[in-house]
Amino acid sequence: MEKPVSLEALEAEIRKKVEEVKARAISLKDARKTIKAIDKLLYAEDGDHDEELLALHDILMDSTVTVQTLIEFKMVMQNMTDDPEQVEEMIAHENSHANVAESLGAKFIGYALLICKDKDDFVFRGVAPYELPPEWAARKRKAAHLKIIGAPEKYGEELSDTDIGKIEWLKRQ
Ligand SMILES: [Zn+2]
Repeated sequence: MEKPVSLEALEAEIRKKVEEVKARAISLKDARKTIKAIDKLLYAEDGDHDEELLALHDILMDSTVTVQTLIEFKMVMQNMTDDPEQVEEMIAHENSHANVAESLGAKFIGYALLICKDKDDFVFRGVAPYELPPEWAARKRKAAHLKIIGAPEKYGEELSDTDIGKIEWLKRQ
């Protein structure tokens, strides 16, 4: 059995993680540029982009707080906003991506919050990273990406602009 962790200790640990990421957060402009480059490579069906992807991924990960459970994700969010509705909406949204990813047999990596600097303030965006089994053929991958990215709609949640952009992009492929 795992050692029980007090809620206070967990909260303190999460707060520290969030502060550390805020201190080195990348700018919103750089984040957008990086995400665009990743998406382009991620859905590319030609060859092997692993090294390039990893390098781009590292840029974002350095500006991201990743946790394994919804309870921790809620704590991360609570460090970034005082609006309980925003917290609940974001949790429901990311959870729907995670549920569908797991139901399809994708590897769920965790709940992540990308934190970026925007002038004197911070902006943030939830992400539910996943990995598809590498042996899946292109067609199966595309279908899975579409289901996972479109998951919030299945649960009556709204798609984010990023979700919509990715779906449009995938459909054109
Ligand atoms: Zn989404």
